[in-house]
Amino acid sequence: MHLDIDRVLISQYQIMARIKEMTDQITRDHLLPNEPDSEITIVPILTGAMIFCGDLIRQLPIKMKIGLMTVSSYPGQSLRTQGSQVMGQQLKDIHGRHVLLVDDILDSGGTLKLVVPMLKELGAASVKTCMLLRKDRPAAKSMHVDYVGFEIPDEFVVGYGLDYNDYYRNLPDIVTLKPEVIAKQA
Ligand code: 5GP
Ligand code: MG
Repeated sequence: MHLDIDRVLISQYQIMARIKEMTDQITRDHLLPNEPDSEITIVPILTGAMIFCGDLIRQLPIKMKIGLMTVSSYPGQSLRTQGSQVMGQQLKDIHGRHVLLVDDILDSGGTLKLVVPMLKELGAASVKTCMLLRKDRPAAKSMHVDYVGFEIPDEFVVGYGLDYNDYYRNLPDIVTLKPEVIAKQA
C-alpha cells in the first residue's frame, strides 16, 4: 500500500495541528455565554469523513449527538464525481437542532448542494458545514463553507478516510497516488 504513494500532501501531524485550530473556532462559535446548555448534532458524511470526524469531535467540548449519512459520489474507480446520491441515513430526529455537517473534501459541491437542503427540510434549526479539504477549482471555491481545514490543488487524493476504489482510507496522511497505480486499477 505504501509503495503506491506518489507524495505526501498533508501529514498526519499537520492535520492534527489544524484540527486543534478548527475546533477552537467551532467551540467559540457554538458555546455562547448566554446559552450555556447549547448542543449540536454532528453529521459526518460517510464513508470519507469517518476518520476526520472521529478526530474532530474528540476536540470539541460541546454537548452533541451524532447522526449519520452515507453519500456516494465517486463510486469505484472514478476520479471525478458521478453525481452525489444518498445511500442511507441514520439521522434520528434533527428537528429544531443545530447541525454541523462534516465532510472530507469539497470538490464539485454536489454533495453539499444535495445534503444541506435535505437537512433543512427535515427541520434543522441551522446547518453549518465543516470540510477538511477544499480543491482549487471554481465550483469548490464559490461555495459557502463555514470551516475549511486545508486548500489543496485540484488533484485526486487519498488517505485519512479518503479512498480510491474503497482502498487507502487507513493511510494516516493525505497523499497522491502514483499514476501507474491508478492506471493499473482503472
Ligand atoms: P463533491 O460532491 O464536492 O464533488 O465531492 C465530494 C465527495 O467526492 C467527497 O466527499 C469525496 O467522497 C469525493 N471526492 C472528491 N474529491 C476527491 C478526491 O480527490 N479523492 C477522493 N478519494 N475522493 C474525492
Ligand atoms: Mg464523500
